[in-house]
Amino acid sequence: MSFAASVLTLYPEMFPGPLGLSLAGRALEAGTWSLEAIQIRDFATDRHRNVDDTPAGGGAGMVMRADVLAKAIDHASPPGDARPRLLMSPRGKPLTQARVRELAAGPGAVILCGRFEGVDQRLIDARGLEEVSVGDFILSGGEPAALVLLDAVVRLLPGVMGNAVSGEEESFENGLLEHPHYTRPQEFEGRPIPDVLISGNHRKIAEWRRAEAEKLTRERRPDLLADDPPR
Ligand code: SAH
Repeated sequence: MSFAASVLTLYPEMFPGPLGLSLAGRALEAGTWSLEAIQIRDFATDRHRNVDDTPAGGGAGMVMRADVLAKAIDHASPPGDARPRLLMSPRGKPLTQARVRELAAGPGAVILCGRFEGVDQRLIDARGLEEVSVGDFILSGGEPAALVLLDAVVRLLPGVMGNAVSGEEESFENGLLEHPHYTRPQEFEGRPIPDVLISGNHRKIAEWRRAEAEKLTRERRPDLLADDPPR
């Protein structure tokens, strides 16, 4: 069964975008995953096809309407659809490799991309949306966040990455940042490749990589080594 993504957006032209190229693009063509970009505006009911309105209580910006979004979600994800419903949102739980793995093991995802100030809270509550953040910064819309999430998921789908081993050794997969990499030439601007890597001693190489990974993680991301690391 292939991974089915339905993305609800005011800018369906942004999809598949970069996911139409390279590994993800080939997998899309091969049917390893599918992508449906749904125009939210098609579910507006008034003659101006409005999808947003001014915030209750006043203030700047516009809010996406619960009634329009509910129609779009119910069309994309009718009752019985087992896929999780995600809302890309800076208020969400930060996306982790562990959650990416869970999503990749499932049937797909229905992804709502916000715009303006965000979406009416009643829609989030009524449709049980899981808010997902891609980091502590504000994007102008959920689309780039959805592309980030889908990229991370699609590369884990069976057959997408040529060399599956490289996935298991990557940053975050074992709670550590990855060790540094080197390749030819042997010497670059006076900097040689570390001796151990050309020693041919595989046990030593594995030990060196592990030590480098631990050092980097301690320096840059001590939170990953904490007793209760982010999941
Ligand atoms: N007023 C909101 C930000 C709205 S940004 C707030 O302060 O929380 C507009 C839309 O961009 C959001 O609805 C969301 O869908 C998307 N977005 C912005 N930053 C994001 C992030 N870090 N992760 C995921 N989605 C994000």
